[in-house]
Amino acid sequence: MVVVPELPEIAIIAQQMNEKTRGKRIACVDDTQPKNLNMPIQEFTKTAKGKVIAAVASKGKWLFVKLDPAYHMLINLGMGAELLYFEPKQKLPEKFQFKLTFTDGTGFTIHFWWFGYVHLVRQRDLPNHKLTAQLGIPPTDKSFTLEHFKALLADKKTGIKSFLLDQKNIAGIGNVYAQDTLFRAKLHPNRKIPTLTEKEINSLYKAIRENLNRSIKRGGAAFELDFYGSKGGFTADDFLVGYKAGKPCPKCGMTIEKIKTGSTSSYICPRCQKLE
Ligand SMILES: [Zn+2]
Repeated sequence: MVVVPELPEIAIIAQQMNEKTRGKRIACVDDTQPKNLNMPIQEFTKTAKGKVIAAVASKGKWLFVKLDPAYHMLINLGMGAELLYFEPKQKLPEKFQFKLTFTDGTGFTIHFWWFGYVHLVRQRDLPNHKLTAQLGIPPTDKSFTLEHFKALLADKKTGIKSFLLDQKNIAGIGNVYAQDTLFRAKLHPNRKIPTLTEKEINSLYKAIRENLNRSIKRGGAAFELDFYGSKGGFTADDFLVGYKAGKPCPKCGMTIEKIKTGSTSSYICPRCQKLE
């Protein structure tokens, strides 16, 4: 099971980081994987040093760490990572590529499983940061209204799953949470957007939000660690059809199938999620 942190996991880490690190001053930064940074480590450290964490928020799969004065540290955990808080003198994790220490001796480490991003961007340059500037509105945001969702779909011709996974449309849904979202909306992943009825669009809108909120309420996925190294409460059993090939559909009892949809796998109930 390939798992990547998606909106619920990142939202939880952002909330915890915000509570724990706000007001702290950066003392030093260490990094052993330079390709994750957007500038040489010496310059990165020099720029970050002395700046204070003003707030931490999330947008989809990105963490936005607002620094005072006038900078942002943008973090993306890529294909998976542990981003872990540490206390002074606490034993650090065995593996990590990035470490940020505050003047009070606390800090956090990041162990990227593959790669990720830690970018320092001037406040005024934020709209030009290619990887985050085009992110869509996350479904948990107040401005993600049904009207907004309908407007997004209006000119699209692709299959509904590839639409959901495109972070320019909606920030935060990946292959994990897309599975049950489509099941809840009774939609086959390959359904073409122009064929969706008004009723289906309404139920998909509802499904997107309900599905993410259900996991957030449980502390995110159990296969990801939060800022304090605890696992979330959303386990493999909590999926409705996701990763449950061969098991019965929770609605109709039909056997759940794993199918190939473009470059991703999908888990569907062939009765509840018909293509035609
Ligand atoms: Zn079914």
